[in-house]
Amino acid sequence: MTIDLSRRGFLALAGTGVATTTLGAMGFGAAEAAEAAHVRPFKLVATTETRNICTYCSVACGIIMYSKGDLAAGETAELLHIEGDADHPTNRGTLCPKGAALKDYVRAETRLTRPRYRAPGADRFQDIGWDEALDKIARALKDDRDANLIEKNDKGTTVNRWTTTGYLAASATTNETAWLTYKTVRAMGIVGFDNQARV
Ligand code: SF4
Repeated sequence: MTIDLSRRGFLALAGTGVATTTLGAMGFGAAEAAEAAHVRPFKLVATTETRNICTYCSVACGIIMYSKGDLAAGETAELLHIEGDADHPTNRGTLCPKGAALKDYVRAETRLTRPRYRAPGADRFQDIGWDEALDKIARALKDDRDANLIEKNDKGTTVNRWTTTGYLAASATTNETAWLTYKTVRAMGIVGFDNQARV
């Protein structure tokens, strides 16, 4: 007989097996079936699984986030658990200590969850909306590029260098996102380009 069992499914089955075998050895054979049916699913039952990438470093390990709460019904989603994604080719279910503590990072009271803006001359930041933040960024990029793009060097060779704006990219992206980011930044002529993983 061939059993089609995922790696996570195998671990769940193995955990159940340990519990039920112990019960059986103690003479509670009748309880085995009930135990097998209930002992593993309790923790994550009725949760929503969301696949994502660890935000910490450029290894970009795959994670699965388990949450409760139906956003479509106006409920607040509560993050209950994060674990490594056993099906992800990078980490195969493993996480380093930083990744293993991701839930605390996500739920931290000090976590920044919206754009903040400090006006010229101001001594404090203020919360602004995402649309307003993106408009400000686009406006500042356009104005600076129009004013400072170096189209040709001393010999008249086209170089299209934009040296007055820099770009700091995030490491927690897929190869495809990183490729698009690189192409966009270089296409605009930006020379100063680095990654958060090196900071
Ligand atoms: S789990 Fe650790 S190694 Fe993997 S991306 Fe996160 S910080 Fe990097």
